[in-house]
Amino acid sequence: MTKKLKNFIDGALTDAQTDRWGDVYNPALGTVASQVPMSTKADVVTAVAAARRAFEGWSATPAVRRARVLFRFKALIDQHMDELAGLLTAEHGKVLDDARGSITRGMEVVEFACGIPQLLKGEYTDQVGRGVDSWSFRQPLGVCAGIGPFNFPAMIPLWMAPVAIACGNTFVMKPSERVPSTAIRLAELWHEAGLPNGVFNVVNGDKEVVDAFLAHPDVAAISLVGSTPTAESVYRQATAAGKRVQALGGAKNHMVVMPDADLAHVSDALMGAAYGSAGERCMAISVAVAVGDQTADRLIEALVPKIRALRVGAGTQAGVDMGPLITRAHLHRVSQYIAQGQEAGARLVVDGRGLRVPGHENGFFIGGSLFDHVTPGMTIYQEEIFGPVLCVVRAPDLEAAIHLVNAHRFGNGGAIFTSSGEAADEFFKSIQVGMVGINVPIPVPMAFHSFGGWKGSLFGDHYMHGPEGVRFFTRLKTVTSRWPRGVSGGANFIMPTMK
Ligand code: NAD
Repeated sequence: MTKKLKNFIDGALTDAQTDRWGDVYNPALGTVASQVPMSTKADVVTAVAAARRAFEGWSATPAVRRARVLFRFKALIDQHMDELAGLLTAEHGKVLDDARGSITRGMEVVEFACGIPQLLKGEYTDQVGRGVDSWSFRQPLGVCAGIGPFNFPAMIPLWMAPVAIACGNTFVMKPSERVPSTAIRLAELWHEAGLPNGVFNVVNGDKEVVDAFLAHPDVAAISLVGSTPTAESVYRQATAAGKRVQALGGAKNHMVVMPDADLAHVSDALMGAAYGSAGERCMAISVAVAVGDQTADRLIEALVPKIRALRVGAGTQAGVDMGPLITRAHLHRVSQYIAQGQEAGARLVVDGRGLRVPGHENGFFIGGSLFDHVTPGMTIYQEEIFGPVLCVVRAPDLEAAIHLVNAHRFGNGGAIFTSSGEAADEFFKSIQVGMVGINVPIPVPMAFHSFGGWKGSLFGDHYMHGPEGVRFFTRLKTVTSRWPRGVSGGANFIMPTMK
């Protein structure tokens, strides 16, 4: 019988109040591994009520004590790294080392959040007026909700919840219904670390859970990472309902390759950035903008043998570079994009379709693909493919390359590879994206900086984790205080100023 997964509410694994279930696949085998409950409004109401009750005690717990739970949680993630990576790879498909890397990036946010006593230190001014002092400090919001995408089952819940919880909030997480098990295991580890019941909860499901978050008056804030249509729609509904929201969306990240770049270095960097995690990363490079035809020709020549040599297989197999895609439907979608690119006149230099992995014939595999002569009007350029398909666009000069990036509707990340300081300077100052790499292909900020894009890649005003995360999960209060000495000078009806 297929394993049926549970929710994690108020410190315990609980059955969802639903008769609707979704299949969770092992994408390397193409078989159903478990079933995830499509939780209902009733489950959200139960989880939010538990989080609301827990908020009273947790928000009043001194930050140093909250930090101690985070220290223990961090140690438990480290201790269970291989187990978590195994769960993640079984449902997502990415290779185990990549899974470990993504969990480590999430764990770094826990490490950052361990510094919460320092991060929440306020500002104090002595004597804003004679005998009057003033200070500002930040307080938690209440119950916060998180909604995750399928591609980072551990890292993205760890971008959100540790900062929210360290700030004194309580949290209800809805992981992607395609990869639910890692978040459930993280909930158990939070519990083992000593987090009080109800502070971190997991409610599994789909849009119905999200709609229940949006409608619930006790959900103060929503953090979402997903595709742009989802991010934009949740942003609009949540803000209309008076909630604070950060909603990170899709991407089409460009790497500009200058004629003076070392192409051996560039092609290696592009291989990892375009084909790592089968291109299912919001920071994947999906467009290489080659400046000059010669650069483009040399780049293609360097890339082709490397793409053909990609080792594609189950993420659990040793020596594999790239695992399967997430679902059969997504495999079909990516294959259709490749057909569209051909029809539109782009040159398909390497075609990854029809790949057969021995022993995994039903897995959702596709090899690396490469297009040359892609132009801005093509669908394969405009849309996020979210698969191992790299498009090469040719630009005459740096100015044209920058113009191309800036005209795109997405603005998550972008990189330049060059040996010219002048070109790099021009690039990072004028590029309209949130995260920039200079000879760094995937410039994902460390936990103590903040992660977020521009334009259609982020809806809301705050990035994730780092100082922006602390700001998102708290609100500011400013106190002006006086302890009168002697008799009152009488009522004063004039706006107080310092004379
Ligand atoms: P998705 O939009 O399909 O789903 C994301 C989450 O929203 C899931 O939990 C899903 O259940 C929920 N959801 C889906 N449709 C919804 C709807 N209509 N209303 C409310 N909720 C809905 O995204 P995905 O396929 O799981 O993830 C891949 C996408 O996420 C890609 O576009 C990728 O670029 C993006 N992503 C962005 C970042 C970033 O930091 N900007 C990071 C990772 C992934």
